[in-house]
Amino acid sequence: MKSIYADYAASTPTDPRVVEVMEPYMTDFFGNPSSIHSFGREADVAVGEATEIISRFLGCKKEEVFYTSCGTESNNLAVIGVAKANKDKGRHIITTAIEHPSIMNACKALEKDGWEVTYLPVTKEGLVEVESLEKVLKKETVLVSIHLANSEVGVIQNIAKLARISNKHGALFHTDACQAAAYLNLNVKTLGVDLLTLNGSKMYGPKGIAVLYVREGVNIFPIFYGGSQQKSLRSGTENVPGIVGLAKACEIASDNQEKESQRIGQLRNQLEKELSKIPGLSVNCAGAVRLPNHLSVTFNESKESNLVEVLDNKGIAVSSGSACSSKSIVDSHVLQRIGLSGDQIHKTIRFSLGRQTTSEQVKKIAQVARVI
Ligand SMILES: *Cc1c(COP(=O)(O)O)cnc(C)c1O
Repeated sequence: MKSIYADYAASTPTDPRVVEVMEPYMTDFFGNPSSIHSFGREADVAVGEATEIISRFLGCKKEEVFYTSCGTESNNLAVIGVAKANKDKGRHIITTAIEHPSIMNACKALEKDGWEVTYLPVTKEGLVEVESLEKVLKKETVLVSIHLANSEVGVIQNIAKLARISNKHGALFHTDACQAAAYLNLNVKTLGVDLLTLNGSKMYGPKGIAVLYVREGVNIFPIFYGGSQQKSLRSGTENVPGIVGLAKACEIASDNQEKESQRIGQLRNQLEKELSKIPGLSVNCAGAVRLPNHLSVTFNESKESNLVEVLDNKGIAVSSGSACSSKSIVDSHVLQRIGLSGDQIHKTIRFSLGRQTTSEQVKKIAQVARVI
């Protein structure tokens, strides 16, 4: 029996249309875009065309798109690069207590180097309150980094408002949009952000490619030093097949966003309704605006100690607290912050649906979950 995949928030399959456009850039047009000869020029043209598509997806200029190797790298570049370039203005950064580890740990590293970091609390529904941000902004604040949608509970933050208030106080605003790309509009003007992280592997694109949008005029230092590619902000030979593939993934995402959000949202609601019949089950952050494909539930009355393993053995692939830390025994910081106890955290499962999820699969998931 083939397992049902319900862990799209951890990784999406690469769309076959994406694979198709990438292939020639590994075999025929393999040149280094920095090379002067025809092979190099072909690669350079491909990167330019892809950047055109990606900048349209983000509503920004081509010159504001920078390529990195993953979401983690983009997030590190945003936090550390902005902090170092603006340290004369101040050494204060604001983020939230429920960020991805790539933001959290970059901030921790800066703290060791003398920066002050404020970790904003969230409500029980996983929301950052605008007032709590306003209270901690000060003239030394150089950067506010708040994710667009949470990877564990799917809660969507009010980025436009949070960004506006940060800018009003003279701080730059970064958002980690890795979870949101397949479902939400990422127009940087509408969001009002100065920097934004986007990741291929969570939006049916290839792994190993990500973007950092950096608004023109933002002061930022590199974290890698090398051959001065990408205006020296991110040295290293560009991942041409990855960039071409990511552009295709963006194109597909913008063509399908509305339809997909609706279809998958209905499936999620169907699953939520079915699972809610289980005695003692609670839906996390049910009152918040969430991504249409996310469902985090706690099986409060389950006697099992490892629900992910139990479900896997029954042919359903899901995550516990956090995709990135589910192999370690550390409790999810996100679930702690929304008020779950240690026991509840161990009984919490994230179902995340996606492009290949069907109504039959949802029925099967509900059937299996009922008896665990
Ligand atoms: C997956 C993810 C990342 C990290 O991306 P990688 O490509 O795995 O480095 C960062 N932030 C969020 C919200 C994510 O979901």
